[in-house]
Amino acid sequence: MTSPALPELRVYNTMDRATVPIRPITPGKLGIYVCGPTVYNFIHIGNARSFTSFDTIVRYLRFRGFEVRYVRNYTDVDDKIIKAARETGEDPIKLAARFVDEFEKDMAELRLIKPDVSPKVSETIPEIVAIIQKLIANGVAYESKGDVYFEVRKYPGYLKLSKRKLDDLMSGAGEREIVNEEQKRDPADFALWKAAKPGEPSWPSPWGAGRPGWHIECSAMSSKYLGETFDLHGGGLDLIFPHHENEIAQSEGASGKTLCNVWMHGGFLDLDGAKMSKSLGNVVRVRDALEKVDAEGLRYFFMSVHYRSALDFNDKSIGDAEARVEYFYETLKKVDERVAGKDFGSGPLHGDPEKYLAKFHDEMSNDFNFPGAMAVLSGLFTDLNALMDKPPKDKQLAGRTMLAFRDVARKLSSALGLMECDPATWLLARRDRQVIAKGIDRAKVEALIKERDEARAAKNYKRSDEIRAELKAMGVEAMDTPGGTTWKVSS
Ligand code: AMP
Ligand code: ZN
Repeated sequence: MTSPALPELRVYNTMDRATVPIRPITPGKLGIYVCGPTVYNFIHIGNARSFTSFDTIVRYLRFRGFEVRYVRNYTDVDDKIIKAARETGEDPIKLAARFVDEFEKDMAELRLIKPDVSPKVSETIPEIVAIIQKLIANGVAYESKGDVYFEVRKYPGYLKLSKRKLDDLMSGAGEREIVNEEQKRDPADFALWKAAKPGEPSWPSPWGAGRPGWHIECSAMSSKYLGETFDLHGGGLDLIFPHHENEIAQSEGASGKTLCNVWMHGGFLDLDGAKMSKSLGNVVRVRDALEKVDAEGLRYFFMSVHYRSALDFNDKSIGDAEARVEYFYETLKKVDERVAGKDFGSGPLHGDPEKYLAKFHDEMSNDFNFPGAMAVLSGLFTDLNALMDKPPKDKQLAGRTMLAFRDVARKLSSALGLMECDPATWLLARRDRQVIAKGIDRAKVEALIKERDEARAAKNYKRSDEIRAELKAMGVEAMDTPGGTTWKVSS
């Protein structure tokens, strides 16, 4: 249950074009449906941004105490998949299954939480057929030569999300769908069911063999797993029209109830000012990006702006983001080294780490203000470092306070999906990536470090200083620790 002390949770609702309070349908619980990938190719980091935003939102909702049911579908039957399969000569269902596996690998590498349910179109056909039958019975859909279309002029709420005008629409289907225009009563009508064509996957139905149109799956899956009305629905901005508009028409046209209380849409990741998209070809695959930057570096970069804002991708920004994550991990490692194996007793603290928790909730309650929450986290890490640099004289008090600050830092990070790794392990992996990226001769560095340790043991400080300078010229910073010299790649 949510604590009464928490600020009211508000979110921008695309339907209202305004920020509204989240009022759970069942107290303490929230159902969220996020439109998932169309599995015909590897995903790019634009898709990853969208999925990461909702991952962070779900994490925060759980951190706040909500019991969240998180559903994200797979579009595994679709025109794009059929087209891709035709090009490779593969069976479309098999091609889709292959890319579901690839997607799951990417999600695991990004360290995103698994949705509670990940339904597939191919496994939801009976529910899809049942909704279409209901829509026909309700007089808002019609069969035409084995296809079934939604008749938009029969449904008064059409376009209430996108606020478009029906008479301005060329085709309700959008560019994605290949439909038989002459079979429609109105060009804006969109396909719910498509009659089977040779070589395409198909299922039996009351209208003959065929397959679902793109949008109907989300109506079927959301009502199956979250009920006819649920709390939150999410996706990228590009889905507002036609996809979400059509979901609303289908779900509400069938049930007569509001599909969901809040519509959330994430902004685009751009490359050189244009939306990253498979159709434009300006994409960076997740797995290629992750060769250069750690998942948390990428996440930090995504969270540097509000989830609804546009974000431009470039190598410098992800480099800067990863350097910030490094700073956080270095701080945690330093605290761990200072407090290891010590007992600082209980008692008052030097400063109040809980105030960060309160500020963090303020930011996240304000339409999940990612950059605001990140600023709170950054401030906490800065203060933790200051505390280590200038600790109070009382060692017990200092240790206790460091531990308390660290615990809050870990809590807030975890609520954002950050700092989930062991600091030492993460820092070594980061160093490995930098060594490769900067072409540093690792064997030479290690030989110099060894020589430096020997020089220091022999109290030959002149040689030890020379080696430090030599390393510096190679882009490496030597650091003296009680256990000998360690090193990192200079920033
Ligand atoms: P798709 O597989 O194309 O349906 O996309 C899956 C998800 O990624 C959808 O929620 C899209 O809105 C989202 N998406 C696609 N391209 C981008 C982008 N460049 N930036 C942010 N989200 C995107
Ligand atoms: Zn959808």
